[in-house]
Amino acid sequence: MEDSTMMADDPFENMLAQMDRAEEYADVDHGVFERLKHPERTLKVTLPVELESGEVEVFEGFRCQFDGARGPFKGGVRYHPTVSQREVEALAGWMTWKAALVDLPYGGAKGGVICEPKDLTERDLERLTRRYTEGIRRMIGPDIDVPAPDMNTNPQTMAWMMDTYSMYEGYTVPKVVTGKPLEIGGTPGRVEATGRGVSLITEKLFEYLERDLTDASIAIQGFGNVGSNAARLLDEAGARIVATSDVTGAAYDPGGLDVAALGAHVEAGGMIEEYVEGDVRATGPDGAPEDAAELVSNAELLSLDVDVLIPAAVEGVITADNVDDVRASAVVEAANGPTTVAADEVLTERDVPVVPDILANAGGIIVSYLEWVQNSQEFSWPLETVNVELERRIGSAFDETIERYDEGAVPDLRTAAYTLALERTASAHEYRGLFP
Ligand code: GLU
Repeated sequence: MEDSTMMADDPFENMLAQMDRAEEYADVDHGVFERLKHPERTLKVTLPVELESGEVEVFEGFRCQFDGARGPFKGGVRYHPTVSQREVEALAGWMTWKAALVDLPYGGAKGGVICEPKDLTERDLERLTRRYTEGIRRMIGPDIDVPAPDMNTNPQTMAWMMDTYSMYEGYTVPKVVTGKPLEIGGTPGRVEATGRGVSLITEKLFEYLERDLTDASIAIQGFGNVGSNAARLLDEAGARIVATSDVTGAAYDPGGLDVAALGAHVEAGGMIEEYVEGDVRATGPDGAPEDAAELVSNAELLSLDVDVLIPAAVEGVITADNVDDVRASAVVEAANGPTTVAADEVLTERDVPVVPDILANAGGIIVSYLEWVQNSQEFSWPLETVNVELERRIGSAFDETIERYDEGAVPDLRTAAYTLALERTASAHEYRGLFP
């Protein structure tokens, strides 16, 4: 790639480069392909909010609807200081390919607000969410565009969005968002769905590679909703979680971390750095522990010699600059867009399988779809039904991707997944034709 630094910095360019890599193998008309490189629309909203402190702060938010040929737009809402229009557009593009790959009747969308949630009170977050929902209200709707949680948003955020939208409509519209609390139309299994999908995909990958997951070493960058649930489920499946991290650093124990204890610590609001300090105190009788976690950096986590590396945080973490340090024998992308195209090419050359984000983290949108279907039916399913359906859908997307890869033409799993997603989206465009 000519300019790998730009790729790393600009997720939209990275998404386009992933598309370009797939074009020569995809059965897609060039005109339609060009069409698919442009988001349908992006709304930018200014959000003045009176904070609990009495000050008024002006935030900026976005909602991008990337492509709606296959159905209503679908995608999460992210609260983060590094949110930008380009990032939201890239994420909306990835949602489009993800929905097509797992064959859901959705187009792709994404929303975001530039903010640091750690600096906001619960009341501030509620006001910001309600103001943002009002800002994008004319654009969303139960059969138009359906938001969901993403980074730093959760079921409570969805409840505020649903309430705000419903207040304007004059009646309760549960189906306008997914990832809601159970009490107001959420589905069992949604909170852990992305992590469960990551765990299922890792199991499927090991089956395909004819390797045993029992005691396989796994490093997970990020211990938020996705990383922590993936860690718990992979630990239960018999793998050894040797490292995981947050912004304060990574806990590393080659013998395997105590995932349950770490989960409880983080759930109670603790950070990884404090956990490691506490772990040392708890296990070391004389300050000389044998089997405690040590603190390493996020960069060191990415270069650990493990069986599987799972980036579960932000975009652009495996780049041309550090890909030579990556020693994992497989990568499963729980985050959206963690690997740049330049790094991808190196991993492909080294024969390191990378299960792409649009497949590995599709558990979230799959269970969102199941929630939306239950809301339409005004009928609720037990957790077991949801999990069986999740496994069936993500499993068959994995099998189809492998089948495409095994035909031998495409160089890697991402390209295999992209050809399928692009062909499905392009075919919807071709049947529908060009308006007017
Ligand atoms: N934010 C999640 C994702 O990136 C889920 C989106 C949804 O459920 O609509 O896939």
